[in-house]
Amino acid sequence: MSHTYEVINPATEKLVRTIEHLDLDGTDAVIAKAAKAYETWRHVSPGDRGKMLRRFAEVVADHKEELAQLEIDNSGHTRGNALWEVDNVVNVLTYYSAAPERLFGRQIPVPGGIDVTFKEPLGVVGVIVPWNFPMPIAGWGFAPALAAGNTVVLKPAEYTPLTAMRLGELALLAGLPSGVFNVLPGKGSVIGARFVTHPAVRKIVFTGSTEVGKGIMKGCADQVKRVTLELGGKSSNIIFADADIAKAAASAPGSVFDNAGQDCCARSRILVEASAFDTFMEHFEVAVKKFRVEDPSLATAEMGPLISRKQYDTVQTFLDEPVAFKGSAPTGAGYWMAPTVLLPKNTQARSWREEVFGPVVSVMPFKDEAEGIAMANDSEYGLSGSIWTRDVGRALRVSRGIESGNLSVNSHSSVRFWTPFGGFKQSGLGRELGPDALDSFTEVKNVFISND
Ligand code: NAD
Repeated sequence: MSHTYEVINPATEKLVRTIEHLDLDGTDAVIAKAAKAYETWRHVSPGDRGKMLRRFAEVVADHKEELAQLEIDNSGHTRGNALWEVDNVVNVLTYYSAAPERLFGRQIPVPGGIDVTFKEPLGVVGVIVPWNFPMPIAGWGFAPALAAGNTVVLKPAEYTPLTAMRLGELALLAGLPSGVFNVLPGKGSVIGARFVTHPAVRKIVFTGSTEVGKGIMKGCADQVKRVTLELGGKSSNIIFADADIAKAAASAPGSVFDNAGQDCCARSRILVEASAFDTFMEHFEVAVKKFRVEDPSLATAEMGPLISRKQYDTVQTFLDEPVAFKGSAPTGAGYWMAPTVLLPKNTQARSWREEVFGPVVSVMPFKDEAEGIAMANDSEYGLSGSIWTRDVGRALRVSRGIESGNLSVNSHSSVRFWTPFGGFKQSGLGRELGPDALDSFTEVKNVFISND
């Protein structure tokens, strides 16, 4: 039986909308529809599939303001972020709209005939999305999946279904055939779990907690179902004494407090070379106190509220280390929290080791390059990270030394739709975005054709 769910604005705690959650039968019906649509979609000519994805991108762009406002209301994202997130969907759709016509195989020299490879679609792809970046993370799954000839069933997170539901409507408006891109709002334990067990769903793309991701990987083993996982992170921002310390300190708040720290790439550990520690902290304090935590619909907002009361309560449990200083936050309704800088006593502190997913950062000194690398690698995660130095050789050595999928030097970029994104160690499995993502949504078929 389906039931209703109240979507709450985290900045005001007011009801945004009541929606219907799909039940198991409803989920099976949509999967069946997607499986049927696959039989047609996979045979749409590459040029036409590309055109439809470009049209989908245009329609999303035409609804930029509406989608951004929906994300501000549903997720408490700042206006600046929400607008960027819509653009990201448009860019990712446009980027992969070129893919159908470029899904090249190979011709391999063999005796007695010719040998060619094809990149075949998989079938129905299940995309399971978390609440922290509802639009971009959805797009990183559905755009390359559709481009490669698959159909998609997408489950948004319980807290944040509204933009995904709207994207589902916009796909139809753009002319995608019914059943090709389906959005199923509801519970992870019902819909997400069904994606794992349903034999017609041939692949799962999951982003979320490491714990749930491990369960999904285990479940997928049963049918040898393909799986891509984007999980947690505990990324380091490593600042060497030779760096532009003022610049590193000015940019550090954005690298961890953006989206209220609810970012798997958040640089929630700052490692500063001991000789520059005091200078860094002086500049960093100024930057944290200036960081604007306010009504996310304001163009000036740099950070909004946390997603829920539950997330707020979870984050508070990490505040058991000495506080260096804090920023500010509104009071009253909403799940507001001031950016908080901790000085953990040692590397065993929970706030140093675990993903906080809130506006909390821990700072520690290190004595030399080797110790900096070792401290950064002392984690079960390996998703992202930043290195600040003016020494090119050191930038290279440290970049190669850190066990992480996405590093940036003298900047904090992690996600660029042109380049591969994913984690080392328990941060994930497989890569999204960039040219490589298509390999995750296709199966290589080898065909030998005899000369006879
Ligand atoms: P979660 O892993 O519980 O949920 C992510 C998605 O998986 C949601 O859509 C959820 O409905 C679905 N899901 C839950 N249980 C499922 C199951 N048994 N089978 C299939 N799908 C299921 O994550 P969350 O509750 O959104 O956040 C909890 C924590 O996860 C956060 O505090 C944070 O540490 C981490 N997280 C990480 C990321 C990331 O990008 N790496 C994103 C969000 C959350």
